[in-house]
Amino acid sequence: MSTPITHEFQAEVKQVLDIVIHSLYTDREIFIRELVSNAADALEKMRLTQLTENEIFQAEKNLEISITTDETAGTLTIADTGIGMTRDELVENLGTIAHSGSKAFASALKNAGKGGDASLIGQFGVGFYSAFMVAEEVKVYTHSWRGKAEHLVWSSTGVGTYTIDEAPDQDRGCRIVIKLKEDAKDFAKTWNVKSVLGKYSNFVGFPITLNGERVNTVEAIWLKNKDAVTEEEYESFYKFTAKAFDKPSYRLHFQADAPLVINALLFLPEQNMEMFGMGQMEPGVALYCKKVLIDPSPPKLLPDWMRFVKGVIDSEDLPLNISRESMQDSALVRKLGEVVSKRLIKFLDKEAQDDAKKFQEFYAKFSRFFKEGIATDHANRDAIAKLLRYESSMTGKGEVISLSDYVKRMKEDQKAIYYQVAPSRSAIEGGPYLEAFQSKGYEVLFLYESIDEYVVSMLPEFEGKKLQAVNSPDVDLGDITSEGDALSEADATAFTTWLKETLGTGVEDVRPGKRLVSAPALAITPEGEMTPQMRQMMKALKPDEIEAPKVILEINPKHELIKKVHQLRSQDTDLATLLSEQILDNALLSAGLLDDPQRVVSRTEKIMARIAA
Ligand code: ADP
Ligand code: MG
Repeated sequence: MSTPITHEFQAEVKQVLDIVIHSLYTDREIFIRELVSNAADALEKMRLTQLTENEIFQAEKNLEISITTDETAGTLTIADTGIGMTRDELVENLGTIAHSGSKAFASALKNAGKGGDASLIGQFGVGFYSAFMVAEEVKVYTHSWRGKAEHLVWSSTGVGTYTIDEAPDQDRGCRIVIKLKEDAKDFAKTWNVKSVLGKYSNFVGFPITLNGERVNTVEAIWLKNKDAVTEEEYESFYKFTAKAFDKPSYRLHFQADAPLVINALLFLPEQNMEMFGMGQMEPGVALYCKKVLIDPSPPKLLPDWMRFVKGVIDSEDLPLNISRESMQDSALVRKLGEVVSKRLIKFLDKEAQDDAKKFQEFYAKFSRFFKEGIATDHANRDAIAKLLRYESSMTGKGEVISLSDYVKRMKEDQKAIYYQVAPSRSAIEGGPYLEAFQSKGYEVLFLYESIDEYVVSMLPEFEGKKLQAVNSPDVDLGDITSEGDALSEADATAFTTWLKETLGTGVEDVRPGKRLVSAPALAITPEGEMTPQMRQMMKALKPDEIEAPKVILEINPKHELIKKVHQLRSQDTDLATLLSEQILDNALLSAGLLDDPQRVVSRTEKIMARIAA
């Protein structure tokens, strides 16, 4: 006789179990989906193992899932002929959570509100534990596909510990026996289980039987004609293939014959799971060849940034025996990915034009992926750029436009697409840069995320127009007419020369500017220098290595303060110097380049003391 060995659950597992047992009362039926999906995963792994291994335990067994109910005993049993688990694997897979799943799960549940949203659970890699919503006790009988493995049973009531014991005469795979809680006895009723399976598991790619009777259809709906698929079928297929709980935002179902024969059914989700703190998603579009699954998550099929896209691509041009390894280097697969990704971006662009509001809502959650695409996906860069959306000096707050919209309303004499990167609308509107552009009637795009700076740097042109930062030294606005007398040219030259000497190493150059309207001066980032946003990022990373900023100071020869300082130079050099330094610091502050605000405080105190005296 063997004795059961007791193991403690890892702390993260205890936390998940605690939530599952005590906080989830709704959607309890999804535990069936989770266990069936695990069984299907194990069968899929078995199918791949068979391709490469010779010695397999019970090799003759068909790959299938059998579910049985026992109303008298109050149990539900889900058995598969998949890879099964060894003792170590039981501990590893059912006693620990390998990644941050539990934490992300807990916080997502908090957002979902009272009663919890159990349907979320599969997304976080903790689906197995959902069984404890309904189970008094769970037993997992198993034998691994490896010939010499042990016959085992894992059991637990979900509180603190589990045991593993020997259990002779197991078949290959897993047989999970759920002893149902008193209030969950309905899950031992055939009709009930059947309806849950119909809802979630209809598309599982292996036969499922319930009490001996076949229940799923194993249908490749992506091969069907669009007219032959109902909305419900699409939605339920999406939920199945994406293991999702939301409804898809967009759906693209298409067939192509050239250059490759393709049947694709793609979905864009409603929720961005990476925003839940789950880390990078795996690729979500499976690759099939004539209904046979080649890879559920092929890394090199679609560009990496498209990992939020879900669905299926089926091409009969692929050789059926293509292995996952050779698939990754296959020119055919690359071509397939190219064709589909182009098509998808074009589709989205069209959708965005047809229903801008819907796209804006989608974009608000998924813009990160498009921006990543511009940075990394050279082939699709210009097409993705059409999907970017920004606020601007001509939109209201929260209202966005595309770069194409911008180009359409550019002024005739306008040379470039102008943008400013800053943390907020008010920072831009309150700053000194915008005014000159507005006085010419030029629109300025407002870019609020630091990644935007990088994005536009990857996009030197859009529809033949250059993109230019408002603080770039190359900005040429031509003449700006504004009221008032300016310093004469000779005075301006004398003054800027003096100012450059006085300010010393703090400035690379001082020059009279044309683009100012009401500010006395502004800071321009010289060619080849880091932009203020880049500099801020670097400073956050390596505060000791970052040098004082180098700027070109453009002064406004018409500004009263500038004219006054010019006069003061000969009358009161001390005060003129203090004011000049303050003008520079104000310009640096507006540019996001002021490293040492403290010096402003002491200087303004000195200036105030002079005025008060
Ligand atoms: P996930 O399926 O996202 O990995 P689960 O909590 O559903 O997370 O399952 C945890 C792990 O337990 C699986 O990754 C798998 O290794 C193992 N497992 C669960 N069910 C089975 C099964 N029927 N056959 C073999 N292994 C299984
Ligand atoms: Mg699972």
